[in-house]
Amino acid sequence: MSDPKFIVLCQPDKGKSCGACCGLYNYVDSSRSSLEQRLRSRTKRFRELAQNPHHVELYSSETLAAEDFKKRYDVIYCCEYLGFLDSEEKRVGCLLHPEQNFGVDMRDVSFYGRELCAGHFCPSHHFIPQSQCKILIKIIDDWYLYGLVVTDIDLVTHYFRMIADRIGSELKPEVFDNVSLKNIALEYFNWKITWPFRSLETNRLGKYYFDGSQYMISYIDYAKYGREVSPLNAIFLSLSSSFKNTQEIEEAEIMIWSNIENFVSAYKHEI
Ligand code: SF4
Ligand code: SF4
Repeated sequence: MSDPKFIVLCQPDKGKSCGACCGLYNYVDSSRSSLEQRLRSRTKRFRELAQNPHHVELYSSETLAAEDFKKRYDVIYCCEYLGFLDSEEKRVGCLLHPEQNFGVDMRDVSFYGRELCAGHFCPSHHFIPQSQCKILIKIIDDWYLYGLVVTDIDLVTHYFRMIADRIGSELKPEVFDNVSLKNIALEYFNWKITWPFRSLETNRLGKYYFDGSQYMISYIDYAKYGREVSPLNAIFLSLSSSFKNTQEIEEAEIMIWSNIENFVSAYKHEI
């Protein structure tokens, strides 16, 4: 990416980072506590063993033996070299990266290899507008939530589009200096973790599920409940929703519409 203004979402600042394309959320148990434990053990093992580059493969075999590598989606690789980059455990990232190893780039030993690892920019870099990338970087300071949100294009773009339609302009990142507005947006993005209508199926992440042989885009059967497709359908799919009845769909719609209305009214009042 030669444009100096191009925003790279992966490691934006010292407060958070993303490791989604290294398989971070592809473990059957991808809860925060489980991932924290996994990344902490890896980082400790890596620091102990990989002082000597010849021991990197030993690190790999010990990690593969110590962890449960059962995956949500078989086709997505879960890389054993993803760990914590800082002692405060705020940033996830590649333990083989030269910045972690006194300038020595060890990514050649990885499954994807150095070139692929270094040159990869996921679709969010192309489909989330730059101003919205800046907003996400500004308001989210939690690696677990950050990676889930920045890789969910529909969740982000539909939300900001609906707000822009109501206030008559695109939101500027500076707007989120206002703490009330920041908190309302964070309530919405936090639903990526706390959404009460989330399907508990382990082969499901956002709008995708894996049926044992291929990825499929999931589907909400509104006709079964005698309803039109919800205008919030894309967001519901991003939040891995599964509804038991019409009442649950209505409750979910109220939650999201209320959040948007709260945002718009606070914006008109404060900005
Ligand atoms: S998923 Fe995207 S934002 Fe996250 S680390 Fe990979 S390329 Fe970067
Ligand atoms: S080696 Fe590649 S896939 Fe593995 S953690 Fe590093 S960047 Fe990610």
